[in-house]
Amino acid sequence: MPEAEKKSMEEIISFAKRRGFIFPSSEIYGGFASVYDYGPYGVELANNIKKTWWKEMVQKNDNIVGLDSSIFMHPKVWEASGHVGGFADPLAECKNCHTRLRVDHLLEEIGVFADEKMSEEEINKLFEENKKKIKCPKCGSSDFSEAKKFNLLVKSNLGNFTGDWTKDPAYLRGETCQGIYINFKNVLDTVRVKIPFGIAQVGKSFRNEITARQFIFRKREFEQMEMQFFTHPDRAMDDYERWREKRWNYFVNILKLNEKNLKWHQHENLVFYAKAAWDIEYQYPFGFKEMEGVHYRTDYDLKQHSKFSGQDLSYRDPKTNEKYIPHIVETSVGVERIFLAVMTDFYTKEKLNDGSERTVLRLPNILAPIKVAIFPLLKNKPDLVQKAREIFENLSNDFMCEFDDNGNIGKRYRRQDEIGTPYCITVDFDTLENETVTIRDRDTMKQERIKIDELRNFLQIKLN
Ligand code: ATP
Repeated sequence: MPEAEKKSMEEIISFAKRRGFIFPSSEIYGGFASVYDYGPYGVELANNIKKTWWKEMVQKNDNIVGLDSSIFMHPKVWEASGHVGGFADPLAECKNCHTRLRVDHLLEEIGVFADEKMSEEEINKLFEENKKKIKCPKCGSSDFSEAKKFNLLVKSNLGNFTGDWTKDPAYLRGETCQGIYINFKNVLDTVRVKIPFGIAQVGKSFRNEITARQFIFRKREFEQMEMQFFTHPDRAMDDYERWREKRWNYFVNILKLNEKNLKWHQHENLVFYAKAAWDIEYQYPFGFKEMEGVHYRTDYDLKQHSKFSGQDLSYRDPKTNEKYIPHIVETSVGVERIFLAVMTDFYTKEKLNDGSERTVLRLPNILAPIKVAIFPLLKNKPDLVQKAREIFENLSNDFMCEFDDNGNIGKRYRRQDEIGTPYCITVDFDTLENETVTIRDRDTMKQERIKIDELRNFLQIKLN
């Protein structure tokens, strides 16, 4: 195995841009803070991440169903959820260099944990007590302004044609799970589900994040994959533990992330309604940070929506006739945080035996944006090009393929290694004689000769 070395955040950011994974949004206008676009390979990788999640959560569980609720919801949803009143981050300014910083994060750095429900006054007291130990990460100063809380909900003027819409806004959703809670009764009444069951959803969320840092780890427009599991209070804690295990196994066994880069973090201060909260953290280039939250939220969410909507959101057990508000176990993860973890884990630079170096994205096959690249040996030989085109047309029915006739074969291999393509097929002069091609493996770099009509079978076995 060649020697491999992990890279820094700067290197990953520049690689992601150079190879068409992630572009800063509106770049020709100078960019737009904390908003990013997926490039051609990025969109494939993100889609593959979402597919694996959907398969593990919905397809493989007969008691979990999918949902796609709207980004816009009745404004009362956000009052019931507590977001209008409390969804706020504490912010202070470094008086020396004027960088705005999250006070809860500064405290966390020195091992002091602030409850997200703390008032502005409480947070300032804690901040004041610890200020001397805290240094601005940009300039090192310990001179900060007071903390102020900023609401993270993004407002819009949807449906508001007169008056001051900022006072009566519709919000872009701050989390996808609220769309699940408000459809709980619809799902229960229309699909043959019985408690315990889950509803899963993938979709965009929006937050007016204050600190615009850490690349796609903290975006203002991002995508969440959330599953809410509705269960009886007596079995909720067991379900919680089961989901914790399942979610850990997803990262290790399905996404094949290095287990050394994963760890559990237990919340020190639980919000008043939660009974348990653990996060799965990943070791990003800037340290261990939250990738996914697995939380036991009790009956708080359905109770709140019952109260604010006036609708009965309880469940009657068809066997025992017991009536109760179901408890909720939530698993919540951001697509971008997995994306960045995957890039961090699999982006490697290798020294080869001949002394040269190659960059290779050692993605598991299910995540690779392109599964097979097809090359004619020479682009000015019409017979070779035509044969390679035929193979492309044939295989692209089943696999995401790329056709490349540019540059020498070595360079083409390197380009595919960089984007993580597991297999490259080359059509050469022998192909025209005997209907065989070479197929080259990304990881071993070994080539073998194989008949064209065996290609599909070979790939189907290897790629699954
Ligand atoms: P953080 O403390 O990092 O701000 P959070 O605790 O507010 O995160 P949750 O509200 O629990 O996050 O959201 C669930 C998941 O959604 C997170 O674990 C994360 O994967 C993802 N997520 C949250 N905010 C963002 C963001 N701004 N950009 C990308 N992903 C995010």
